Amino acid sequence: MKLRLCHLYPELLNLYGDRGNILVLCRRAEWRGIAVEVTPVSLGDKLDPQGYDLIFLGGGPDQEQGVASADLLAKGPWLKEAVEAGVALLAICGGYQLLGEYYRTGSGETLPGAGLFAAYTEAGTRRLKGNIAIQVEELEVDRPVIGFENHGGRTFLQGARPLGRVIYGDGNNGSDGTEGARYKNAVGTYLHGPLLSKNPHLADYLLRLALQRRHGEVELPPLDDSLEFAVNEAVYRRFLPTKGKW
Ligand code: GLN
Repeated sequence: MKLRLCHLYPELLNLYGDRGNILVLCRRAEWRGIAVEVTPVSLGDKLDPQGYDLIFLGGGPDQEQGVASADLLAKGPWLKEAVEAGVALLAICGGYQLLGEYYRTGSGETLPGAGLFAAYTEAGTRRLKGNIAIQVEELEVDRPVIGFENHGGRTFLQGARPLGRVIYGDGNNGSDGTEGARYKNAVGTYLHGPLLSKNPHLADYLLRLALQRRHGEVELPPLDDSLEFAVNEAVYRRFLPTKGKW
């Protein structure tokens, strides 16, 4: 079995350790004896819709997003074809914004999105930044997903399903309690960190989604995640404003 990862715009979209998500997916697959191949795909490259099990995009400043956005217009139909066929996708912050309908930046420029998520993003006056915890229903382990967010854009879902509900932090827009978006096996989220290092339950969920299209239901042998969950717990509690569910 082989896991084929596509890293979209690695040199443009990579904030707050986003590249670490690729490393986490690689290690967690390799520890289970699954071979991994990571292919960087960038400006002007073709994206083979059938060529990957999971596509990853990190976050980025507005300027880099502008460069990626022009290229994403050409790649949009390939991305959509891949996701419609069940390919998994993880997009963080700036990458997530570019997969919606559009992102209007703080300087008033409108960057067209790939239209994968029924959502749009517009910059607000204050940046939404800080530690964030969300609840994601689909996960097998009943633990929050934690991370760090720093975005000027506010995302409003227009029929897209959120990835989760905000426990604390701002999430999509700081007002409606939603965080991220989900369409088929594609996930968009504002959580940096890198996201998957502190959330092994989400990492394995994505690995299973990625592998199931070509290999059916895959049983991933459990790993010793005691350290990772200790970090998850410690960070969650450290920033918890009031007593919460966990
Ligand atoms: N430039 C975008 C914003 O400020 C995305 C930032 C990010 O990826 N952290 O909203």
